[in-house]
Amino acid sequence: MTQRDYDLETFWIPFTSNRDFKAAPRLLVAAQDMHFIAEDGREILDGTSGLWCVNAGHCRPKIVAAIRRQAAELDYGPIFQMGHPGPFKVAERLKQLLPGGLDYSFLTNSGSEAVDTALKIALAWHQARGEPQRRWLIGRERAYHGVNFGGTSVGGIAINRKAFSGNLLPYIDHLPHTHNLEHNAFTRGQPAWGAQLADELETRIIAQHGAQNIAAVIVEPMAGSTGVLVPPQGYLERLRAICDKYGILLIFDEVITGFGRVGAPFACDKFDVLPDLICLAKGLTNGAVPMGAVVARKKIYETIVNAAPEHAIELFHGYTYTGHPLACAAALASLDVFREEKLFERSAELAPYFEDAVHALRGLPHVIDVRNIGLVAGIELEPQADAPVTRAFKVFQRCFEKGVLIRTTGDIIALSPPLIIGKSQIDEIIGKLGDALRYHN
Ligand code: PLP
Repeated sequence: MTQRDYDLETFWIPFTSNRDFKAAPRLLVAAQDMHFIAEDGREILDGTSGLWCVNAGHCRPKIVAAIRRQAAELDYGPIFQMGHPGPFKVAERLKQLLPGGLDYSFLTNSGSEAVDTALKIALAWHQARGEPQRRWLIGRERAYHGVNFGGTSVGGIAINRKAFSGNLLPYIDHLPHTHNLEHNAFTRGQPAWGAQLADELETRIIAQHGAQNIAAVIVEPMAGSTGVLVPPQGYLERLRAICDKYGILLIFDEVITGFGRVGAPFACDKFDVLPDLICLAKGLTNGAVPMGAVVARKKIYETIVNAAPEHAIELFHGYTYTGHPLACAAALASLDVFREEKLFERSAELAPYFEDAVHALRGLPHVIDVRNIGLVAGIELEPQADAPVTRAFKVFQRCFEKGVLIRTTGDIIALSPPLIIGKSQIDEIIGKLGDALRYHN
């Protein structure tokens, strides 16, 4: 029995069964590179980059040193009508890193805030262009866009909306999701079936609400949190084409897919489809200090800024901690590590090995799908008829006991290891996951 000098009762743990967790906690107390240390001293191999964010591995000395230095030099600087170097440097680096045209960064403190900021910018842009009636925001079923009101509204996870459903945003609709086991089970990379699902934007949503009333479509180019749904070939291209045809903004939520996860710097690089606004967070600071960003095309920034009277504030939006010095220090150092260690390239190089490894789980008990792209994979299990989600969660618990951290969402297991992972560590994750799947036959 572990002795603690603190009590577990009063912290309200997010997205967790508080009663179960507090009865049988899993606590991590330290980390380095590919491993956590649990409170009982065991090493836990990180198969999930924490929560999809520690892309360069844990406690990397360069990032730790940058945060330390910054904390001692300028701990905080006000950001309304004031400034300090960090956010300007981060924005410049993001402009260099992102494909052409995505040039102007609005900094936030999380992915949820990035999503709500992007939705507000989309509305403000149409207003600045003289089309204020464009207020419909279109999300997609099975989308996760964080937990603020905007993100919850465009999000497509019923259980996340249920307790608040009476008071979410109006003028919201959802595209169909692209998950289809009948056509796409055990696909490697992008499924061949499903591009036509994008057409519903035109055939139903535009037909119903009127293109002239729609402000933006927001999608995760690859849906992460609902179980790694890789976009069908041609799907994102069709969404882009329909948005272009009708003057609708396309927002990519790349909070998970950004910074090397899909085997390219960003999903918009991988799939060669350019959004008008992109939401980032997580890997931006390697998870070390919270930070998010919305990066906008120049036309969006310029239209909003130029529409405001001279000397006036152009966008009434922002956070006390926008561009926080510690977050900026962490972001700049993380971007250095990604570049110096060529981690985005490494993700692409390791992807085929990772793909073969995860697909070797096909045929194990209850595995009804394996899907993957870059260094991310979803392994879907047949739900237990009388107790959905318990099967995957038992596998999660078993893996943790064996010293591997995986993530589950419903009865889907998601793997998204740090991009520094070695082949033997991929083998270790898959070996222990395979054992856990067999054990829970
Ligand atoms: N958007 C996507 C695609 C995400 O996966 C997440 C978090 O997992 C978010 C937004 C919300 O980010 P945060 O938890 O930092 O608010």
